[in-house]
Amino acid sequence: MINFVGAGPGAKDLITVRGLELLRTADIIIYAGSLVNPELLQEAAAGCRIYNSAYMTLDEVVKVMIDGERSGYKVVRLHTGDPSLYGAIREQMDRLEEAGIGYQVCPGVSSFCAAAAALQAEYTLPAVSQSVIITRMEGRTPVPEKEKLHLLAGHGCTMVIFLSVGMVEKVRQELLDGAYSEETPCAIVYKASWKEEQIVRGKLKELSQMALNHGIRKTALIVVGECLGDDYELSKLYDASFTTEFRKGTKV
Ligand code: SAH
Repeated sequence: MINFVGAGPGAKDLITVRGLELLRTADIIIYAGSLVNPELLQEAAAGCRIYNSAYMTLDEVVKVMIDGERSGYKVVRLHTGDPSLYGAIREQMDRLEEAGIGYQVCPGVSSFCAAAAALQAEYTLPAVSQSVIITRMEGRTPVPEKEKLHLLAGHGCTMVIFLSVGMVEKVRQELLDGAYSEETPCAIVYKASWKEEQIVRGKLKELSQMALNHGIRKTALIVVGECLGDDYELSKLYDASFTTEFRKGTKV
């Protein structure tokens, strides 16, 4: 059984309890070296073999997994954040499937959650936005036509944009082509939960400057939307007059 494990966004103690246990008992760890905090590898048992997938191809990664499993070793594939987002796990799982090898996925705290925590933000504010769009700008990896940034930006909801801070001016323009204005609040969160974390807040008109002034070119998320502003309505859930499955509302 191969275990894909979400390492969390960076801080060593933001891996799940299950993920940590898998890490501690692994015989082989293949970690995504570009973003997984190396401090996590200190948790590996003595004698554990450790591979950095940043230097490997898909074939090489899969070979280590399959050879490891067939030799009776416990293999952990450690991905940054949650493996389901930009993790390239599907292609690995399909190869394992072809080889008849079982696997499971242990979820992790995604960086978009760590960014909300850093910003002390609620992405889904009543009467402001009830949806979060997670997306990216097209880079070397294409984005389907229907999901071009300016089209998604037409919703004006909360957006968290991955892998795009290096193209920040293009992001800004596409967002303005959607439903946001120059005054829409936005933020750049660099290395959320790491020691080097930086939070830069501003308006959409300043987005490029925000990245430039702080020298942020990678490992950051762009968050945009009125959820970062000051106006919202109180929730129904905790409204005194609102009856729920658990609580009888009082007349006001
Ligand atoms: N699976 C990961 C995302 C991997 S893609 C997750 O769930 O978070 C890599 C991109 O994620 C980076 O380019 C950056 O945009 C974002 N990212 C990953 N970790 C981050 C962090 N700690 N702070 C801010 N952005 C991060």
